[in-house]
Amino acid sequence: CGVFGIWGHEKAAEITYYGLHALQHRGQEGAGVVTTDGENLKLHKGQGLVNDVFKRVDFSKLSGHAAIGHVRYATQGERTIDNVQPLLFRSQTGSMALAHNGNIMNAFKLRGELESTGSILQTSSDTEVLAHLIKRSEKLSVQEALTDALQSLVGAYAFILLNEDKMYVALDPRGLRPLSIGRLGDAYVVASETCAFDIIGATYEREVQPGELITISDMGMETIRFATQEQRRLCAMEYVYFSRPDSDLNEVNVHASRKKMGIELAKESPVEADIVTGVPDSSISAAIGYAEESGIPYEIGLIKNRYTGRTFIQPSQELREQGVKMKLSPVRGIVEGKRVIMIDDSIVRGTTSRRIVRMLKEAGAKEVHVRIASPSIQNPCYYGIDMSTKQELIAANHSIDEICEIIGADSVAYLSAEGLEQAIVKNDSINQGVCMACMTGNYPVIEKNQQEIAYTR
Ligand code: 5GP
Ligand code: SF4
Ligand code: MG
Repeated sequence: CGVFGIWGHEKAAEITYYGLHALQHRGQEGAGVVTTDGENLKLHKGQGLVNDVFKRVDFSKLSGHAAIGHVRYATQGERTIDNVQPLLFRSQTGSMALAHNGNIMNAFKLRGELESTGSILQTSSDTEVLAHLIKRSEKLSVQEALTDALQSLVGAYAFILLNEDKMYVALDPRGLRPLSIGRLGDAYVVASETCAFDIIGATYEREVQPGELITISDMGMETIRFATQEQRRLCAMEYVYFSRPDSDLNEVNVHASRKKMGIELAKESPVEADIVTGVPDSSISAAIGYAEESGIPYEIGLIKNRYTGRTFIQPSQELREQGVKMKLSPVRGIVEGKRVIMIDDSIVRGTTSRRIVRMLKEAGAKEVHVRIASPSIQNPCYYGIDMSTKQELIAANHSIDEICEIIGADSVAYLSAEGLEQAIVKNDSINQGVCMACMTGNYPVIEKNQQEIAYTR
């Protein structure tokens, strides 16, 4: 998912809409905006792409000097409008809206506790739990109640909360998900990725720190810690696949890191060939890096139809397979008779690689060597990226030789975990460091009560 927030701008809703537009790649299933004018919260949300959801919206009706927004990327969770965020809760003592990216691992247990003491939850979203915990708290200020509530959550979360007169921003103690702060004139902006700042002309200020709770109001910005500082563990998959190449995450540019992944991959797993090609869009940067390091020319061997969405986000395998076919075509004149190095950013189920190898061979490629710009994914993610269950992960169930055979390649090699880390981490300070649990099995946050069937993210 993607989150966005702005405080102190007369066109808050409209700017949030542009911000969500830039974050569209983070979720295509639903989008929404909540504004405050100091007295009332107003909501507009819907299922589908940002453009469709806001097509006929009159922004003057979403008035207010502050707003938060969300784009939703659902997994096995229910695909209903109720789960589209921001979630808005109204009460006599004041309302609040919540936008969340991540996964609360102990949500099922917390829901049980809340329900057994009388709460009625309206959604099947893990996010709703936070609202109830805040409401239950006996603390007087929202900031204190939120601190309490955050301390009972286990998992990965980047939250933005809006009520009538304040905006709150929080990041989980390990900083698993990305979240940055910027300024637009006097206004404060917050976003999952810095590409949302660029589109609105805002300047980047800093990262939200792991375990930090920020309160923004007309009085300015105030910050406290709700958890002690530990080594950051920002999701490596954000760099590998999820984020936009023009974004900087934790002050490291995504395109530059992908290019380095390609350079490392070429050093680790060279192979003789005529051309290097990448699977658009997310693998182009790594393919450029591989070509540069190996001296083998980079070519556009595959093109992408601009008018199809992300295949991975399709909820069923059948739709995903169909999606790959509609999305990519080989450039016959380029690959025919050639030995091709095909770079992809990752292999999850193997759907994309299998189809593309076949496509390239049908277009006349003599050999197809698959090089993957990340280590093999063998473990599920519990932190908000959908990789479902272990059974679906091809690398959890097959050796590299078997994978090579299944996808029909002439050879397959993955980037090492060290290579990936080197491509991302600038130094070994406590603020740096990544999560690579799906690749290494080294989980930075563990929760016994994690449910196999996770809620929506
Ligand atoms: P597969 O086709 O092997 O199941 O998935 C890997 C492909 O899906 C890659 O080409 C990658 O670019 C794309 N992809 C889309 N969404 C995701 C995601 O959330 N995680 C990962 N690792 N890859 C994804
Ligand atoms: Fe990202 Fe993988 Fe860690 Fe999940 S397990 S947060 S996908 S690196
Ligand atoms: Mg891809």
